[in-house]
Amino acid sequence: MKNILPLLFIFLCSCQSGVQQEETTKVKWALVMHGGAGNINPDHLDEEMQAQYKAKLAEATQTGSAILKEGGSSLHAVEAAIRMLEDSPLFNAGKGAVFNANGQNEMDASIMNGADGNAGAVACVQHIKNPISGAIAVMNESPHVMLVGQGAEDFVKTKGVEIVDTSWFFTEKQWSAYQKIKEEKMGTVGCVALDQNGNIAAGTSTGGMTMKMPGRVGDSPVIGAGTFAKNQSCGISATGHGEYFIRNVVAYDISALMEYKSLSLEEASQLVILQKLKDQKAEGGIIGIDAQGNIVTQFNTSAMFRASASSNQEVLTGIF
Ligand code: ASP
Repeated sequence: MKNILPLLFIFLCSCQSGVQQEETTKVKWALVMHGGAGNINPDHLDEEMQAQYKAKLAEATQTGSAILKEGGSSLHAVEAAIRMLEDSPLFNAGKGAVFNANGQNEMDASIMNGADGNAGAVACVQHIKNPISGAIAVMNESPHVMLVGQGAEDFVKTKGVEIVDTSWFFTEKQWSAYQKIKEEKMGTVGCVALDQNGNIAAGTSTGGMTMKMPGRVGDSPVIGAGTFAKNQSCGISATGHGEYFIRNVVAYDISALMEYKSLSLEEASQLVILQKLKDQKAEGGIIGIDAQGNIVTQFNTSAMFRASASSNQEVLTGIF
């Protein structure tokens, strides 16, 4: 008996820690969102506005999470969560999109399915109420990856995607920002999700940059630049100065560093956002999830609106 007790003790301890490890490390599903990155002075965003942004991000995160919790697909969760932010005038996507140099809203969006590499995007669209759903229609129902302008609108309309008058996107806030020719407005939205089948999806939607030239397309609808997903590595949605994100193929670069250099998602995003982009004075950030459900939010600006949740974590929101 004397000799057995220590052994029994070790056995019981190892059983317990085994169970705990299983419970704390295995993430069944995860979701992360951003609502844009930029250099905001906290004094210019009062507590009430901060609370409004956080509440909307939390609501969208909960909407996507509920789908994942019930066993729904990451694609479905990403679409539902992004639509919610597109319908909110707080963000620079869908309703609330910024104005270009001609005083018009031109929106871009993309989606990628990490399970099969399929992807879809729309760019320079002016009448699609939820551009993310337009991107999904292009992915699922056309033989192409990206459709732009009138062609995109005519196509998605035949697939039942809602078309609205340009007045839907008008917000007083963006109009006065345009009239004052203020600095670029942040507020692009993005979402990455991992579902219970191990499938990762990523999506991004934006009005682009204030005062952009008509016809300008940023990184958000460009697969590999603003959006990328691959089950074996990660899903990424980016926000920031689009021209740099295109030149540096940011979302794909992070995934490639993981695949070819065996970096973790965190190491790869630090290298790309905090070193590569920073050296070029390119501002912005990313959200990402890897195959194990690790969530990363990385930005080189003073702020990035963000929220996340997983099977192991309640909804968390952050700005600065
Ligand atoms: N990346 C977007 C663009 O360049 C803007 C943003 O994320 O704020 O169109």
